[in-house]
Amino acid sequence: MSGHELPELPYDYDALEPHISEQVVRWHHDTHHQGYVNGLNSAEDTLEENRESGDFSGSDAAMRSVSHNGCGHYLHTLFWENMHPDGGGEPEGALSDRIEEDFGSYEAWKGEFKEAAGWSAGGWALLVYDTVSKQLRNLAVQKHNDGALWSAHPIFAVDVWEHSYYHDYGPDRGDFVDNVFEVVNWDEVAENYDKVTSIYE
Ligand code: FE
Repeated sequence: MSGHELPELPYDYDALEPHISEQVVRWHHDTHHQGYVNGLNSAEDTLEENRESGDFSGSDAAMRSVSHNGCGHYLHTLFWENMHPDGGGEPEGALSDRIEEDFGSYEAWKGEFKEAAGWSAGGWALLVYDTVSKQLRNLAVQKHNDGALWSAHPIFAVDVWEHSYYHDYGPDRGDFVDNVFEVVNWDEVAENYDKVTSIYE
């Protein structure tokens, strides 16, 4: 059913300053993220109407819209949760151990992740847990779903669409990504890691 709602931010709009401005968080959350929620609801309405009428024309486009807007909604939700004004530093505990095991070192993981963040014209850098091969991976995603790995469960997401950084950093996307690292909520990322590994390992 099409009852998806925009989640409230887990902090004030200006809480991530000076790393991400209040204006960018307002636009990004209230307009862009809301747009994906609306798009997902609208696509689900179309699918439901077509099931009731038995005329499935347009359902193909609606299913593609579910993928685009659904991925947009879920990744933005993860992105907001992945940050906190008291964040920063480096991961600890089981997540830290697993990053070292699967990438060699935190520095190797971070270097690869930043490369993913610099790649696409507009998309995401993701740290995921691959539920089939049972390992952490980085993914470089264009838009919200091009570059997906179906077995992957995202546990950390950085939005590198231009709406995410251009107002604050201009074309210097790397500077934006460095600033996101100043507010990463590693406790939340570790909780995501613990949840998914408790199911699959
Ligand atoms: Fe975005």
